[in-house]
Amino acid sequence: MINNEIISKGQEYIMNTYNRFPIAMVKGKGSYVWDADGKEYLDFLGGIAVCVLGHCNDALQARLKEQAADLWHISNLYWIKPQVELAEKLVKVSGLGKAFFCNSGAEANEAAIKLTRKYFYRRQEANKNEIIVFNDSFHGRTLATVTATGQRKYQEGFDPLPQGFVYANYNDIASVKKLITKNTAAVMLEAVQGEGGIHPADHKFIQELRSICDRENLLLIFDEVQCGIGRTGTFFACQAYGIRPDIVTMAKGLGGGFPIGAMLATDEAATGFAPGDHASTFGGNPLAMAVANTLVDTVTAPQFMESIKELGIYLQESLKQIVDSRIIDVRGKGLMLGVEMNTEVKELVQICLQKGLLLGAAGPKVVRFVPPLNINKPEIDQAAAIFKDALQEWQ
Ligand SMILES: *Cc1c(COP(=O)(O)O)cnc(C)c1O
Repeated sequence: MINNEIISKGQEYIMNTYNRFPIAMVKGKGSYVWDADGKEYLDFLGGIAVCVLGHCNDALQARLKEQAADLWHISNLYWIKPQVELAEKLVKVSGLGKAFFCNSGAEANEAAIKLTRKYFYRRQEANKNEIIVFNDSFHGRTLATVTATGQRKYQEGFDPLPQGFVYANYNDIASVKKLITKNTAAVMLEAVQGEGGIHPADHKFIQELRSICDRENLLLIFDEVQCGIGRTGTFFACQAYGIRPDIVTMAKGLGGGFPIGAMLATDEAATGFAPGDHASTFGGNPLAMAVANTLVDTVTAPQFMESIKELGIYLQESLKQIVDSRIIDVRGKGLMLGVEMNTEVKELVQICLQKGLLLGAAGPKVVRFVPPLNINKPEIDQAAAIFKDALQEWQ
């Protein structure tokens, strides 16, 4: 089937929830994908920060096939070997205590919200059920996580929304302090805001958040769904701030393209859940766990993390060298970068696509670069050249 046939059928049978580019991708290898007409694209969106090791990575593929021959699904009524192995790895790399597995970022954040409420409930402090979240954040599309998301456009028309969320300004510690009451349970944030436009948190802001949470007995929750799994040059972005969170959520990159979500908590916070309190049929499924084990082994290799930092600087420098009066800022961390323009970037992203480079927008005016973490310098050069070329064409 060629692109147009797939698209017209899609328009007939798929629910109309996405603004899709008029292209159907059918194959991927490494940093490249091909559409149904055979056109090649360099992928600097990586399935929205998911394809951490590129497309159809050999090691992930081999491990998936191996597991597919052994056991696909069994449920959490039994112990699952690769799940236990992955939990150990994630606990060790985070310095936290216990893992819970699910299937997506929203589900991981939903688990964090439920754990927070149940934790204080079990401590006879059920009044502590309010979570401070941030404007321009993104935490998912379920009713609770879309309420935690500090962007009204995602909430409109879905009232009544669940209660228990209040909104502070990112990197503004005074705005957090103002919202703390006897009912505050937690502060939840992204270490680098992704959908909100690639905004890294200030060092001091995170350090102050940690001490406020300690002093006020609040849980500090990091949503690392997008910025985690090595993306910014440390396994979790929050680790660069020299603090330990109480709860961390992850998803996107953890399966390298296989659906997965996870929440980690300190042993103390994890006491909030007892058997029966929370569950997920597919959570911790053997196929997802097998792939994620191989992915985490690859990403946690010390040379790999160093290369992310180096490639991130290289990409950032390449973008900063582009001279265009419409560029307002080039920012981000590691391989999570944004180029902010003085106007909407939708058409610019479209031109890049036509020229064979996949990019995304993060908010209306920011072009997002979240390539595979095993990208190489020639591919970065190619992407920068196409981007520069596209800028020249963009009116
Ligand atoms: C994508 C994203 C989510 C939601 O993840 P889904 O897997 O789409 O549910 C949550 N938080 C952040 C920071 C994200 O980038």
